[in-house]
Amino acid sequence: MTDWNEAVSKAGELPDYLYIDGQRVHDATLDTIETHDPASGLRLAMVPAGSRQSIDEAVAAAKRALHGPWADLSPRARGRLMWQAGEAIRAQIDRLALVETLDSGKPLRDARAGVESTANYFCYYAGIVDKLEGTTVPLGKDKICFTEKVPIGVTGHIIPWNVPINMVARGLGPALACGNTAVIKPAEDTPLTALLVVEILEQAGIPPGVVNIVTGHGAVAGQALAEHPDVRHLTFTGSVATGKSVMIAAAQHVASVTLELGGKSPHVIMADADLERAVPDILKAVFNNSGQICSAGTRLLVERSIQDELVRALVAKSEGLRLGHGLDNPDLGPLISGRQLSAVAGFTERARERGIEFATGGGPVTIEGCEKGHFFAPSIAVNVPVDDELARDEVFGPVLSVIPIDSLEQAIDIGNDSDYGLAAGIHTRDIGNAMRYARAIEAGQVYINGYHAAGDTVPFGGMKHSGVGREKGLAALDAYYEIKSVIVTL
Ligand code: NDP
Repeated sequence: MTDWNEAVSKAGELPDYLYIDGQRVHDATLDTIETHDPASGLRLAMVPAGSRQSIDEAVAAAKRALHGPWADLSPRARGRLMWQAGEAIRAQIDRLALVETLDSGKPLRDARAGVESTANYFCYYAGIVDKLEGTTVPLGKDKICFTEKVPIGVTGHIIPWNVPINMVARGLGPALACGNTAVIKPAEDTPLTALLVVEILEQAGIPPGVVNIVTGHGAVAGQALAEHPDVRHLTFTGSVATGKSVMIAAAQHVASVTLELGGKSPHVIMADADLERAVPDILKAVFNNSGQICSAGTRLLVERSIQDELVRALVAKSEGLRLGHGLDNPDLGPLISGRQLSAVAGFTERARERGIEFATGGGPVTIEGCEKGHFFAPSIAVNVPVDDELARDEVFGPVLSVIPIDSLEQAIDIGNDSDYGLAAGIHTRDIGNAMRYARAIEAGQVYINGYHAAGDTVPFGGMKHSGVGREKGLAALDAYYEIKSVIVTL
C-alpha cells in the first residue's frame, strides 16, 4: 500500500498563493483555506481565501492584458503559443496527475486522462485561432459589409471540484483562442492544479495577466467574480442553485453566461440489449469518479422482463468493485469531502425511511488504511418510484436508481419528466428504437450502446435546468466572441 506522506512529498512544493498579473501573490491579510487528500485526510496545502479586492485586482490585470502583447500577437502566433502550452502541460503529466489525485481523490489513471484532455483542449483550440473567419453580407453595389469575430473581453471561470484541471482547460481553451483574458476561481476543495497550470501556460509564453487565479470561498470570491462589472462572460459548472445566482449576478451587468449545472440522466436498457455489453457500461456510467459526474447515468430505466436478471448481474459486479486511495488506482476513490459524504448518505437514509430497497450498498464504508477517507459503497436502489427524490434529484455520489418500464414510449416519458436534460443513454439492438429515443429525449448528449462515448471535441451542455450554452468542440467558441459588422458606403 502507498505511503501517503511520501506521495505528498513527491508532489513537491504545493502552491499557497493567488496568481495575478504573472505574480505569485502572498497576501498576509487574507484568511487561508486548508486543502486535504480526501482519501487519507492528510493536509496538502493552505491557499489564500481571496477577497473581493483580490478579484478586483485580478480583473484589472486581465483587463490590462487585453490590450497588451496578447492583443498584438497574430492569430497564428497566438495559436502557436496555445499549442506550446498544451504540450508543456502534457510534459508535466506525472506531477499534475499526482497532485490532481491527491487533491480530488480520483483514481490516478483518471487524473492522467484529465491532464491529457487538458493538454488536448489547448492543442485543439490552438488550431482554430487563425480560422475564426468573418463573413460578407451583400448590400448592393454602393456598399461593402463584412463581419469580424472580436474578443468579448475579460472572462470569469468558476470551477467545480469534480474534474478540476479539465474544467479549467475546457473554458480557457476557447476563451484564449478567441483572444480573451481570464480570471479563474477554482473550487475551494481542489485549487491546486489550476495554480500549477497557469504557471505552465506562462512558461510556455502566454503573457502575464492573460490568465489569473483567485482561490477562495464561493460566497466571497466566486460571488465577487460573478458580480464584477468588467467581466463580460461567465463560465460556470456546479449546482443549479449556484448557477442561478451566477446568472442573476451576470444579468446585473448584462454579461453572457455558459452554465453547466448537472443532471439526472436516464439510461434505458431494452429487453433486446446485449447485456454483456450493457452491464459494464451501466456501472461505468454511474460509478465513474464515484458518481461525482454531472452526466452520470443515474436513472436506469429497464424493460421489466429483464429487470431481475440485469439487477443480479449489476449487483454481482458492483460487489467486486475495489474502493481505495486514488494512487492505488481503485475502481472507486473517495467522495470529495465529509460534506459530500453526508449529502449522499442523507439521500440513501431518507430513501430507506420511505421503504426503498437497496440491492447492494446504500451507505458509507470504511477502507483499511484510509480510515479518514470519505468512501461510499457503490449502491443500487431498486423499484424506485418515478416521483421519488432518489429518482428526481442529483445525488452526486455512486447511487443508481433502477426503474422498471414496459415500453420505449414510457421510457421517453419518464426520461423527459425531469427538470434536467444533460445526457441520456440507451442499449438496444433495434436501431429504429435507438434513433426514436435519440430524437425524442430532451438531452444535450445521447449515447447509443455505449455511455460516455463522446470525447473532448463533441459539443456538451444541457437543456432545461442542466444549463445554458455548449462547451467542448467548435460550438464552445460561440460564447467567447462578439460579431462586429462593418458597413462601408462607397
Ligand atoms: P457549487 O455549485 O456551490 O460550487 C461550484 C463552484 O461555485 C465552486 O467553485 C464554488 O466555490 C463556487 N460558488 C459557490 N457559491 C458561489 C456563489 N455564490 N457565487 C459564485 N460562485 C460560487 O457546488 P458544491 O460544491 O456546493 O456542490 C453541491 C452540489 O452541486 C453537488 O452535490 C452536485 O450535485 C452539484 N455539482 C455539480 C457539478 C457539475 O459538474 N455539474 C460540479 C460540482 C457540484 P466553493 O468551492 O468555494 O464553494
